[in-house]
Amino acid sequence: MMLSQQPQPDNGWKKLCTVLLDGIQFIFKSFKPVVSRLDRCIKAHSRPQEQNLFAIIQGGLDPRLRKICVEEMVKRDTPGYAIGGLSGGESKDDFWRVVTLCTDLLPEFKPRYCMGVGYAEDLVVCSALGVDMYDCVFPTRTARFGNALTFGGSLSLKQKQYTHDQLPIEAECDCSTCKKHSRAYLHTIVAKDTVGCHLISVHNLRFQMRLMEGIRKSIICDEFPAFVRKFMKGYYSKEKSYPEWILNALRSVNIELEPFST
Ligand SMILES: [Zn+2]
Repeated sequence: MMLSQQPQPDNGWKKLCTVLLDGIQFIFKSFKPVVSRLDRCIKAHSRPQEQNLFAIIQGGLDPRLRKICVEEMVKRDTPGYAIGGLSGGESKDDFWRVVTLCTDLLPEFKPRYCMGVGYAEDLVVCSALGVDMYDCVFPTRTARFGNALTFGGSLSLKQKQYTHDQLPIEAECDCSTCKKHSRAYLHTIVAKDTVGCHLISVHNLRFQMRLMEGIRKSIICDEFPAFVRKFMKGYYSKEKSYPEWILNALRSVNIELEPFST
């Protein structure tokens, strides 16, 4: 529904309210079938020893709808919970606020899985907000464009600056690509041969695993805030500043990042 260019004040408000109401009703209708579908799944689920059913929290970016959905899903007492409907182009500020709203309301001792999240900074922030599990095509998709993930940010191996670079993608990495191949070799083949994409994919997947291993170990050793500070300092070392949404999200869980010296 379009608002007319010069609406009468009363008429304009009425139209705006109708648009908002339509939006809320649409989202409510969208997640209602999700709840009834879960009920059918629970009824049909006959192999709990082999498979786990996770309820998916929907509700768009509306906190009230998210809360209603969490309440309904928690009543079903599934083995874990997924946070859905994110990583779809919403602002990062909306993203972390929805994540933290859900993790605050979900049961503390059940796994929380944030769907479609795979950027390194998102994995660290969401883990700080209380998420345990993730999935994403990002590491392999970005490898197809010649991008290698590192703790110092992404390397675009198609760029000329890597023509004579004999270093591995990341010296500390123990993947087979870093053990055998230089950035220069990968630069040579990445645009011509799919093998290049495969080799970078191997590294990128290992990078994601090393990152999650680091998060896990630091939580077990009770050193997670220090891990986050070190990671962010390295990851944004080129930019020498942190995105505002990351500062705000981490502040909400009492993690203050170290400033870059000027
Ligand atoms: Zn590697």
